[in-house]
Amino acid sequence: MVKKEGFEHRVLIEPDNPSIVCNDDLCKKCKLCQKACQNDIGVFGFYDLEKTGNTAICINCGSCIQACSFNAITAVSDIDRVKIALNDPEKIVVFNTAPSVRVGLGEEFGLERGAFVQGQMVSSIRSLGADYVLDVTCGADLTITEEASELVYRLKNKDKYKFPMFTSCCPAWVKMCEMYYPELIPNLSSAKSPIAMQGSIVKTYFAQKVNIDPKRIVNVTVAPCVAKKMECKRPELNAAMGADGQDVDIVITTVELAKMIKEANIDFVNLPDSDFDSIFGHGSSSGLIFGNTGGVMQAALRTAHYYITGKNMTDEQIEACEPIRGIENLKFLNVKIGDYDLKVAAVSQMSEAKKLIEMIKNNEVELDFVEIMACRGGCANGGGQPRVIKRPEQETTRQNRNHNLYSTDNKNQQLRFCHENPEIIALYNDFLGEPLSEKAHHLLHTHFEDKSYMLDISKKK
Ligand code: SF4
Ligand code: SF4
Ligand code: SF4
Repeated sequence: MVKKEGFEHRVLIEPDNPSIVCNDDLCKKCKLCQKACQNDIGVFGFYDLEKTGNTAICINCGSCIQACSFNAITAVSDIDRVKIALNDPEKIVVFNTAPSVRVGLGEEFGLERGAFVQGQMVSSIRSLGADYVLDVTCGADLTITEEASELVYRLKNKDKYKFPMFTSCCPAWVKMCEMYYPELIPNLSSAKSPIAMQGSIVKTYFAQKVNIDPKRIVNVTVAPCVAKKMECKRPELNAAMGADGQDVDIVITTVELAKMIKEANIDFVNLPDSDFDSIFGHGSSSGLIFGNTGGVMQAALRTAHYYITGKNMTDEQIEACEPIRGIENLKFLNVKIGDYDLKVAAVSQMSEAKKLIEMIKNNEVELDFVEIMACRGGCANGGGQPRVIKRPEQETTRQNRNHNLYSTDNKNQQLRFCHENPEIIALYNDFLGEPLSEKAHHLLHTHFEDKSYMLDISKKK
């Protein structure tokens, strides 16, 4: 890295980066962002500006935001775009909240770390003027329905596919794969992320159900993640709107939502609870644990079990999968489903995922299915969540957020399986047909591209 003089102290950020921005007036030149990007993510120090055409490489994970104690690096703000939409009487503003937002938002209002504030979160968004408030947990149920179907299909046609299959719901991991591991693109699940699937469904099925022209809908997602600001701009995700716009119009972070609530003088702590709207407003506890490392894997295994055996996992079988829970970076699990002896892994923190990928490439470990999340502990600790400065508190926060999401998923829970969500069943019956149908493929699946040329522009075709 030899160019970009004057910026030797911090991570390099291109002006058009959709996720992160730096206010150099606040920068204390401490290099903590570089260390996070290099040691935890494996990007800074892993590209050569001479080869990239003097262009900074970034997977948009936001770990540098969390590392910067001086608030110099922040998420790119999309608050004004949301306000414009809310003030436009012609627009119908639909908010969708990702699972982890409800265990981060309360921290911005002095509540304990990881407090579960779903009801107040929905109320506050209604107070801001949203027309509808939907739950991406339902989108997570849909992702699992498609992804588990895809896994079962690949297992049944093992000679045609490369294994392990990798999850693809983390856009930072997807970008890492496209740039650094293009040979693994065939291994990526083609199922879109929950946020992307929900975007396509809001602009089609939901719009039909509530009888609104989708062009009037401004689809706002609240996410714990700044990579989602990049993901929503991927043109291949706009299956519903095509040339007419994005399926997910705007992504704001948990912190941005908190800022809007504060600016509107809403008394968050004393707000009464409110429930989501119907139609993509309710998800299963399997969908809710998507926010934790290992959560996607558990949800997928449960639904794959149903598709393979025709039966739901018993409580004991679910418990047997629990070693894949927890905030450790890398966890393995062997699980028998029908005649399949599956070897799976869940890894969080991109640098740890890179180590696992090297092990897979060197045939040191053989796996069928791998969940990868760029952020340590999963999305609950994403770049868009409230920042925790003190190190001991960071660990407690991770544990609390993780625990409070997982505690919603227990055997007393009425809706524990993604494929049993009545909203998902109605969606397939009324609109999509069945998982992996032609319509489902069109709206809910995507494709990926070899972007290794970004690391060496001389290879650009
Ligand atoms: S967003 Fe992630 S990849 Fe980009 S500079 Fe920050 S830490 Fe590095
Ligand atoms: S962590 Fe923040 S203050 Fe430190 S060098 Fe990076 S941008 Fe500057
Ligand atoms: S782990 Fe979650 S929060 Fe972090 S970059 Fe990936 S999708 Fe975003």
